[in-house]
Amino acid sequence: MKNYKPKNRLTPEAYIDGILKGDRVTLSRAITIIESNLESDKKLAKEIVQKILPSSGKSIRIGITGVPGVGKSTFIEVFGLYLVKQGHRVAILSIDPSSQRSKGSILGDKTRMEDLANLEEAYIRPSASGDTLGGVSNKTGETMLLCEAAGYDVILIETVGVGQSETAVHGMTDFFLLLMLAGAGDELQGIKKGIMEMADMVVINKADGENITMSNMAKRQYQNALHIFPASESGWRPVVSTASAIKNIGISKVWDEILKFKTLVDDNGYFLKNRNHQQIKWMYNNINEELKQLFYGSKNIKNELSSLENDIVTNKISPVKAAQEIIEQFKKSF
Ligand code: GDP
Repeated sequence: MKNYKPKNRLTPEAYIDGILKGDRVTLSRAITIIESNLESDKKLAKEIVQKILPSSGKSIRIGITGVPGVGKSTFIEVFGLYLVKQGHRVAILSIDPSSQRSKGSILGDKTRMEDLANLEEAYIRPSASGDTLGGVSNKTGETMLLCEAAGYDVILIETVGVGQSETAVHGMTDFFLLLMLAGAGDELQGIKKGIMEMADMVVINKADGENITMSNMAKRQYQNALHIFPASESGWRPVVSTASAIKNIGISKVWDEILKFKTLVDDNGYFLKNRNHQQIKWMYNNINEELKQLFYGSKNIKNELSSLENDIVTNKISPVKAAQEIIEQFKKSF
């Protein structure tokens, strides 16, 4: 298995040419390489990403989150259709490290966005599954770069607003949109406060029918809640609005706010500063991951650790000294 080399691979140049021409079939095949765990594919993926890098980045990257059932798929479909009408090319990706557990929970069912998926100007790619959040983030991040190189100028990255993947998505997007529901009991509905703090915009979805009054009340509540958070470095004050994805109400308002945000952060320099910061952090995240794997994956270290654990519980060595000793031993192995 280790030396297995899939036969249906193209040359790196063929992938790059196809992507730069905006050819969706080649784009999809290249994303499959990015998602692959085969060593030969990993090498090929690095080469493709490296070569398309100068053509990436020319987009607005939007993270969208909210608890299951809030209406993310419905919203993204009408939002995507709206953006295409405005002349944009939209790529929709998802990040869901828990997809092993809840297979197909987000975007798994493409038919939920059938109208959008049928358009040439829209590209929908369901979640890359993976064991670690770091791995999934890498794959989604590189997929995003490929989509940009293929000419998609709005990237929507969807995530389920219940776990830590929001931080990962926030770390790779320019604008973070949180979808909420009115009157679902708890004011924050299981959305962790940290996620609220990351939001550049909160949209109360399902503001239709008898839900309208409650949605307007919720809007005021969230406006108050957001007010107490410290001002964001971007200089942007988070906005709260209501929408009905199903009735196609309040959708253009979301895009208008995103454009206002973009103008502000372009003018004050935050857009570029944040992008640069994200790129650098992306590298450090990978270094941290690799170092951890190098350390904990070593057989000697594993053995030594279990003996140190014993020494610690029998008070033979202090935890701090134990940590120092094993790091020293690790250093010697180079
Ligand atoms: P997701 O799990 O967040 O992706 O949510 P879905 O988009 O699958 O929507 C969950 C349910 O809410 C579906 O039955 C949708 O038809 C419904 N829904 C989505 N948006 C709206 C809306 O604006 N108003 C109403 N009344 N229902 C909606």
